[in-house]
Amino acid sequence: MHLKPPVPRVLCLSGHDPGGGAGIQADIESVAAQGAHALTVITALTVQDTHNVRALSAVPAELMAQQLALLEADGVLAAIKIGLLGDVAQVRVIADLLRRQPGVPVVFDPVLRAGGGTELVNGPLQAAVLDTLLPLVDLLTPNAAEARRLAGGEGPIPACAARLLDRGCRNLLVTGGDEPGEAVLNTWFRPGAEPVNFQWTRLPGGFHGAGCTLASAIAGQLACGATMAQAISEGQRWTQATLAAAIRVGRGRSIPLRR
Ligand code: PLP
Repeated sequence: MHLKPPVPRVLCLSGHDPGGGAGIQADIESVAAQGAHALTVITALTVQDTHNVRALSAVPAELMAQQLALLEADGVLAAIKIGLLGDVAQVRVIADLLRRQPGVPVVFDPVLRAGGGTELVNGPLQAAVLDTLLPLVDLLTPNAAEARRLAGGEGPIPACAARLLDRGCRNLLVTGGDEPGEAVLNTWFRPGAEPVNFQWTRLPGGFHGAGCTLASAIAGQLACGATMAQAISEGQRWTQATLAAAIRVGRGRSIPLRR
């Protein structure tokens, strides 16, 4: 009898987008495309379309804690991906999870505002993320606006990145899709090393779910044994291909084609 090797499990903690462009569906599809299996703990239900988020309802942190306990008991975690968060109580539950799972790579895509403009994080939640989660994260993947906001204001991206690394996050990939410029410039920062730039063709039109797609592709790569450098590089290459092939599933922004 042939025993199948276990598929690496990536625990995804993300919001649900009923339109299937962002959030947990983006995670499932991206993680699967890297050859891993997504475990899915939903942080929030949202009311949204391909234009914008209209409402958000957090899942009770206690329910998430119960889901996590069973998933952890049922097998090994190869990576953890965190996306949209619902409230401060969830941050505590997730921080406890990360402390119980030392050595498991953690990718955190800090979703602060929807592409359509709706604020998704209030002051206390942002403070909890900065104080409690950041020191436990291996890779943070903010866009430029999120990096500035988390770092406490305006300023050049390298200075913001330095402030975020000072808070204990081990790697930072700042994406430049939301910045002006002919090309998209993404930069990988880590303590004690020169920043590494990645330049990508700026594709026409706006996208919905690009950030979730990139972060979960990187988590899938890490789960399958890639180094951080390989995962950052391959995650971007694969995401750019999903954007080049993006599909329209609604009247707003296109979503990445993840298959
Ligand atoms: N809804 C959920 C559940 C998300 O996770 C995200 C982003 O990560 C969004 C909405 C916003 O996506 P976008 O900014 O690409 O529109």
